[in-house]
Parts: sequence; C-alpha cells; structure tokens
Amino acid sequence: MLRGRAAVSRSLRGFKTFPRAAVEVKNEPILGFAEGSAERKELLKALAGLKGKTEEIPCVVGDEHVWTKDVRYQLSPFNHSHKVAKFCYADKALINRAILASVAARREWDLKPVQDRAQVLFKAADVIAGPKRAEVLAKTMIGQGKTVVQAEIDAAAELIDFFRFNAKHAVDLQDQQPLDAEGSTNTMLYRGLEGFVAAVSPFNFTAIGGNLAGTPTLMGNVVLWKPSDTAMSASYAVYKVLRECGLPPNIVQFLPADGPVFGDAITSSEHLAGINFTGSVPTFRHLWKQVAQNLDSYRNFPRLAGECGGKNFHFVHASADVESVVKGTIRSAFEYGGQKCSACSRMYVPDSLWPQIRDQLLDIHRQLKVGDPVEDFSTFFSAVIDNKSFARIKKWLDRAKSSSALKVVAGGNYDDSKGYFVEPTIIQTTDPRDAIMSEEIFGPVLAVYVYPEKNYKEVLQLIDSTSPYALTGAVFAQDKNVVDEAAKVLRNAAGNYYVNDKSTGSIVAQQPFGGARASGTNDKPGGQHYVLRWTSPQVVKQTYVPLTDWKYPYMG
Ligand code: NAD
Repeated sequence: MLRGRAAVSRSLRGFKTFPRAAVEVKNEPILGFAEGSAERKELLKALAGLKGKTEEIPCVVGDEHVWTKDVRYQLSPFNHSHKVAKFCYADKALINRAILASVAARREWDLKPVQDRAQVLFKAADVIAGPKRAEVLAKTMIGQGKTVVQAEIDAAAELIDFFRFNAKHAVDLQDQQPLDAEGSTNTMLYRGLEGFVAAVSPFNFTAIGGNLAGTPTLMGNVVLWKPSDTAMSASYAVYKVLRECGLPPNIVQFLPADGPVFGDAITSSEHLAGINFTGSVPTFRHLWKQVAQNLDSYRNFPRLAGECGGKNFHFVHASADVESVVKGTIRSAFEYGGQKCSACSRMYVPDSLWPQIRDQLLDIHRQLKVGDPVEDFSTFFSAVIDNKSFARIKKWLDRAKSSSALKVVAGGNYDDSKGYFVEPTIIQTTDPRDAIMSEEIFGPVLAVYVYPEKNYKEVLQLIDSTSPYALTGAVFAQDKNVVDEAAKVLRNAAGNYYVNDKSTGSIVAQQPFGGARASGTNDKPGGQHYVLRWTSPQVVKQTYVPLTDWKYPYMG
C-alpha cells in the first residue's frame, strides 16, 4: 500500500519520461579550422555571406517583432565603417509590456517537466554544434572582433557546453531528494522563481549571453534578456536558435535597450525575481543599490548573481619554467586583445629571471599580428570593442608614457582610423601599488613588477592586497614548497587559481568560473551548483497513515 503511494508521489519528480542515458554529456571538441577542412570551408562561406551586410534586429516580445524609434547600430570593431547590425532600444513601456507577458507565461512553463525544458537546450546545443556553428562563429568574429579560435572556444564550445551541462545538471538535480519516513514521503519540487529573471550580458562572450538567458529557463523561469549593444548580432542568432529549438514565446524576451533604462525598468517592477548579470563592477553595484532601494516593493527577495571584472595576476617564482611563463603570459594577456575577464594584466617577476623573460616576451611581441581576423587568419588579435574602450585604454597608455614610475617596454601605440586598434603593450612599473597594478584596463596591456628574488614571500602578500578583485590568478613555480605556500597566501585572491598554467582558458565543467571580492558573487556558471541559483524549491510531505490521536502516550 505504502509503496504504491510513494511511487505516485515520486512521479512528481518527473523521473518517468526521460531516458537517463541521454543525460551523459561531454565537452564539445574545439575544431581546428585547418586549411582544406570542412569547418573552415563552412566558416569562410558564412563570413563571405555577412561581408558588408547590415542585419536588422528587432526587439522581440512574445512572437511580436517591435521597432521603436530609437535606432542604433553595431559596428565591426576592426572596420567601424561596417554597420554589422541595425537594432532599436526598447523603451520603458515595451520593457513593462514584456514583464507582464513573461509573468503571464510563467506558470505553464514552470509546470512542465524539467526534461521538456532541458530538451530545448540540448537541441539548441546540437544545432549550434552542427548547422548553425559557422553562422554564430562568423557573427562573433565580425561583430565582436574575435579570431577564429577565440570565436570557436566561445560561441561554439563554451556555449554548447553551457547548454548541455546545465541541462544535465537541471535534470540530475531532480535526484536530490529528502529522506522519506515510515508512513510518509517527502518530495522536493524544484520550482522556478516567482516573477521574472533579468539577464544582462556583456560584449565579450557570446556564450555568456546565451547562458545568462538560457540557464534560468531550465528551472522554469521566464527571462528578459538585455544583450550587449556590441554583441547584438551573435546574441540574436543564439536567441533565434533557442526559439527554433522549441522555446515557446514569452519565455525569453529579447530586449536590446539602453542599460540604465533597462535597469530602472526591471528594478522598479514588483515581479523582479532575479538578476543574472555579467559585466563591470560599477554596473552591478548600481543594479544592486537599485534593488536595495526598491526592496519593500518586491513580492520576493530578488536573487542577484553578478560575475564582474578582474585584475588577474601571474606570479613567477625563481624556480619557474621560463618558456611556459612566457608563452602562457602572451596568450593570457593578449588573446582577444586582453578583453577576457580572466586576462592576465599584472605580472610579478623575480629580478633573476626578468632579463630572459623580457627578451623572450619581446621576441614573440615582434611576431604578434594585430589586424583584421576575417581577411587574415594569422591575426593574433584584433581591434578592441568600441570607441569608449579605445579611449579608456588610450588614457592608460598616455599615462604610462608620462609617468616616472612606468616604462613602456613594448607597444604603446594605437590607431582608430579604420578600427579600434591598440598595440599589445608591456609596461614595467617600479611602484607595485601603482593604479596600473590594481585597476582593470580591459585591453591588451600587461603591467610587470620586477621584484628582488629573495622577497617572494612579501610579493605574495602584495598580490593578495593590491587589487579589489579576486577573479583569476596563476602561480608559476617548480618548487613544491613555494606552490604550497602561495596557495595559502592567495587562497582568497582568485576564484579560479592556476598552478603552472595561464590565468585564462577555463572550460565548462572542468574549471567552473567566477571570483569573489569585487569580482562578483562567484556563482560558478559552468558548475553543477549554478542551476540552484535559479530555483525556489518546494518540499511536499505526503502522509499515508491517518493521525488517530491528538494526545501523546506519555500524557497517560
Ligand atoms: P558593462 O558593465 O559595461 O555592461 C554589461 C551590461 O550591462 C551591458 O549589457 C550593458 O548595456 C548593461 N548595463 C550598463 N548599465 C546598466 C544599467 N544601469 N542597468 C542595467 N544594465 C546596464 O560591461 P561590458 O563592458 O559589457 O563587459 C566587460 C566587463 O565584464 C569587464 O569588467 C569584465 O571583466 C566583465 N566580465 C566578467 C566576466 C566574469 O565571468 N567574471 C565575464 C565576462 C566579462
């Protein structure tokens, strides 16, 4: 009798409809794009198809494509005369309309079995891995200025991994259930948050936008996605894939918008249930303060997840392997023009190794090609994202040229006549507390402090206390005692910590990503716990043995 009832109760958990074998997933392989390969041909075709074209991108609420009067353009960073996309900003009224439509669609979506919702992301991953791969890559290359490999590790591999792994984690989570007791069963229902989630994404990773908007839907949430102006084309491609793969209307609203207008509208809605943000610290702090100001008006306490900036370090000990330091630092500091949140931007080198390391860095520096990643596949990195970014980095370079504590060792030039180009730049500082060692620059600028070899212990303390961020960091040392010591001192200095490896290149499910301190809430998108942020569980106790007495036996 009891068994039969328990089985009914368990059907609530949705075990029955999903073939468990389908939930085994692996990291998507990174394709090589060698001359003559099928993937290279496909990519070249997609790039040629986009050449000189301007894509029209509306706001999408439900199934309705809406054009407001506030029209904007996404420019190609390495050729700003090319308008990649024409889009419009949603105004406050449209954002409010989208909120109400989302909230109205929420209940039905939330009541679906998680397996059905997961199927949308599994399918989207397969479509991006297959027929849409070249398109999404080409849009990321042209729109965000990525080279082939940088687009591939982002818009293909990472996005596919986010969709597959998070879908798997959402389904697997149903197995995490409380204990049953004699005469009753207990079931944890993983509900979506009551209200809507706002996904606010940055320019630098197509994958992050897809994840911020897509993953909460797995848990039964409805999402308002505000993509970045400078990642519009690739973001819209991802949104369309989700819709084509079965995401119903009103589950993700696609809303390009002015940041503050969007922020004001979502934080003033009583239905705000969460913000899934990746971007800079000032923006996240601003949103958090707005939420705090409006706290009395919300129906729930909104969940705030924010992955923000970094000032990522490479610490080099005298026992380090010089070749891996040099090659790892070149890749970490300069790939994608230093516009990865994990990019190394401060390096600490012992005086005994600096002459060798400097010479080898300079040797590679002379070979780095900065240019058009579409016309020339041997380009190492391209232009920085936009004029604002260019102006900010230019200021840092001008300051370095005039400061007595700073010396430009390599690069230092810039040119925005055709695209927003900045040379890979290495700056040596005699002051380890100079702003260049603590503030995020988000460009191809590496600052180096050369320390007396014997002072490495003080340098570890210095690394820990110099910057407000704690995103990524790397320690290069062959001496095991130093590796152990550094791990203790730098325990809170990085959320993603590398030993004898560069500070970039995290892979979903292998190195779940994120940092604390000013770098964010460290929710580790890409890890199995991430989906938990987007659920508000309900526990159901069902009792099968009637209560027959109100008195306790000891009462006599
Ligand atoms: P940003 O803060 O300028 O913009 C991020 C998003 O916020 C954009 O969509 C923007 O339009 C929006 N926005 C701006 N003001 C807003 C407001 N008042 N209300 C609501 N939304 C608003 O950041 P960015 O330049 O796009 O991205 C670069 C930053 O992101 C860097 O600091 C980088 O380190 C960080 N980042 C961090 C991670 C991570 O995982 N920790 C990953 C990628 C990027």
